[in-house]
Amino acid sequence: PDKSLPQLLQETSTRYPSHNALSFYGKKISYQELQDAVGRFASALQKSGVQKGDRVAIMLPNCPQYVIAYYGILTAGAIVTQINPMSVERELLHLAKDSGAETIIVLDAFYPRVKTVQKDTSLKKMVVVSLQPAEMDLTNDCTFESFLAEGNGEVTPVMVEPEHDVAVLQYTGGTTGRSKGAMLTHRNIVANVLQSHEFFKFDLGFGKEKCLTVIPLFHVFGMTSCMNLSIYTGAEMILLPRFELEEVLQTIKTEQPTLFPGVPTMYVALTNHPRAEEYGIDSIEVCNSGSAPMPVELLKEFERKTGSKILEGYGLSETSPTTHCNPNFAERKPGTVGIGLPSTLYKIVDLGTGTQDMPPGELGEVVIKGPQVMKGYWNMPEETAHALRDGWLYTGDIGSIDESGYLSIVDRKKDMIIASGYNIYPRDIEEVLYEHPSVQEAVVIGVPDEYRGETVKAILVLKAGRSADETEIKEFCRKNLAAYKVPELIEFRSELPKTSVGKILRRALREEIKTS
Ligand code: ATP
Repeated sequence: PDKSLPQLLQETSTRYPSHNALSFYGKKISYQELQDAVGRFASALQKSGVQKGDRVAIMLPNCPQYVIAYYGILTAGAIVTQINPMSVERELLHLAKDSGAETIIVLDAFYPRVKTVQKDTSLKKMVVVSLQPAEMDLTNDCTFESFLAEGNGEVTPVMVEPEHDVAVLQYTGGTTGRSKGAMLTHRNIVANVLQSHEFFKFDLGFGKEKCLTVIPLFHVFGMTSCMNLSIYTGAEMILLPRFELEEVLQTIKTEQPTLFPGVPTMYVALTNHPRAEEYGIDSIEVCNSGSAPMPVELLKEFERKTGSKILEGYGLSETSPTTHCNPNFAERKPGTVGIGLPSTLYKIVDLGTGTQDMPPGELGEVVIKGPQVMKGYWNMPEETAHALRDGWLYTGDIGSIDESGYLSIVDRKKDMIIASGYNIYPRDIEEVLYEHPSVQEAVVIGVPDEYRGETVKAILVLKAGRSADETEIKEFCRKNLAAYKVPELIEFRSELPKTSVGKILRRALREEIKTS
């Protein structure tokens, strides 16, 4: 892994210049064209004064300009700052101020939002991307095309030390609190690309795969598993800016992707489509699920209906992201996140002090060591010291490891419910709820309770055309769960709040209840 990310692209574009690198609504861009655009973008950045180590922000949905900007920034020796386009002003302000970025590549639709916060940040230059022709007043700023035209492709070489130099500030999703910038070095990310590749051993091999790229590239899972892994293997990235079920199904039908990294909520949508099997989902060799727990019942139903195969993995922003996955070449164990990727050490330590190793099967905090583990959090020495101890990353996740090394994630430390002194893991209850034939999505949270400290609340979305009431759900839970775990409160909704990558936002639900 002692290469930089731009070297990966350079090698692939030399090896497969005429292969498709990107596909966007039918428009194809070859590896040579991508490399040329990246060179022009990098030289334009340098001309505008960007130097090694400067932070340059990207606030874009999945589109070719995203990939050009990302590799252009890295080629100029600068640090990519990933900004979630869904960020509201307060969040945007935090990310811009914290990173100290002076340049941002932004979609026209988000431009006014960035303009509003600009005066309180160090942002000086904005490069505006329009996916459809648009007339805009861009005083002091410029369009992506005119910026690219300023570059001549002559990049002043920058010495990058893959092990030390930060490539990306990957802000954590903030599902549990304030967003922290994980500093991922070139080595961290390249290592994770090689580890994932070594692990999956795709059937078709270099220069032949097609990756359905619908998880956002600003999220670490999309960044590595879709974009950087594709760049390394010479795969074609089929870019989609959002998950729209019909569009995704049509794309699968026409493009016949071979790889599909997705999150559980996407598999929920595909499984519940009445004619999912007609779109050739079985052409996908690997559906790699991560980011949030994959309910076992859902995994089985998806595989039954589509004939495709899901490999569930696990990771964090802090680990570039993948540390574990169910293997393609050995036993898959639904309900676990599989075994460690090559060169990844992992163990379970006691939840209290975090110093004692737990035996197989026992619960505790998951800790991880490996080349994909971040350098630390940007500007946050205390949080870094807490998360990284003696080279081990403390994940904040509770899990156990079985005798064969398969890791199960039970829950996050912060999500555990303590009711009348019992530790309750929402995941246990959610797994049961997903087994109910009418339940499409389920989330369980703890709500304050005068007597028990906390009590269990389940929020459910039912499948279209199916019904169930509170009594029936409780009865179902009573049959399948110890009494203290049975939700006391049940609420039905038409949808659940989610992050832009599709994770259910427990924090939003908890806060809603606290303030209601
Ligand atoms: P924040 O850390 O700020 O709350 P976030 O959760 O969105 O934000 P990420 O780094 O995107 O940050 O998410 C990592 C977390 O996602 C892990 O710590 C774990 O709790 C959860 N996760 C990832 N994959 C799985 C999985 N397969 N099963 C269960 N949980 C998972």
